[in-house]
Amino acid sequence: MNIRIGPATIEVSPARALDAEQFECCEGSALIAAGANIERMFLPHKGLVAILERPPVGAVAGAGLVGAGGVVGYAAVLGPAVASGDSIALSAVSGVSISAAGFRREAGHDQRLWSAMGAYATRRIASTERLCACVALHSVEQRLARWLLQASDLLGADRIDITHRRLADVHGVRRASVTTGLHMLEGERAIVCQHRRITVRDKRKLAALSCGCEAM
Ligand SMILES: [Zn+2]
Repeated sequence: MNIRIGPATIEVSPARALDAEQFECCEGSALIAAGANIERMFLPHKGLVAILERPPVGAVAGAGLVGAGGVVGYAAVLGPAVASGDSIALSAVSGVSISAAGFRREAGHDQRLWSAMGAYATRRIASTERLCACVALHSVEQRLARWLLQASDLLGADRIDITHRRLADVHGVRRASVTTGLHMLEGERAIVCQHRRITVRDKRKLAALSCGCEAM
């Protein structure tokens, strides 16, 4: 069986070493719930997963976006770990799930697995750090443009099916702020908004309106 971690595709034989199995879930499903022990990691082939943090005080905010080539639950790579946030499917998602303990065991003697996951984890940590600065420094419009570009790239499609409510959760802002931001991007003819659907109309224009934080 081949598994993809970031840009690397690695053949794992036998597949049972990782207790690998196909998974499919529908929009809104929680792949990993906040506070749960991360026993399985999810490697999507298709679809989008948002990592949503719910601080003790306040609402909810996105702390990462995972698509094809990504790993949901990578925090369990070094050892047993508890999920800090909910990993929520933003669309139908399918891919392969693997045992976290099985991965640690196999990576102990398979340098390819260890190197690929190490490189991936390093990028995710850097992206999370950049996201902290992005939220502090950039406008909702800039962040929406950045997020739509990233989501479009991960989906391999110009069409993103998502509600304003969910976008507000992902960005940690009020729904009205999302609506205003999207109207601005639509007014610039970078996107087209329909009910529960956003279509990237002009990628270059959207990139010009983005803060650029996706370019890690
Ligand atoms: Zn930014």
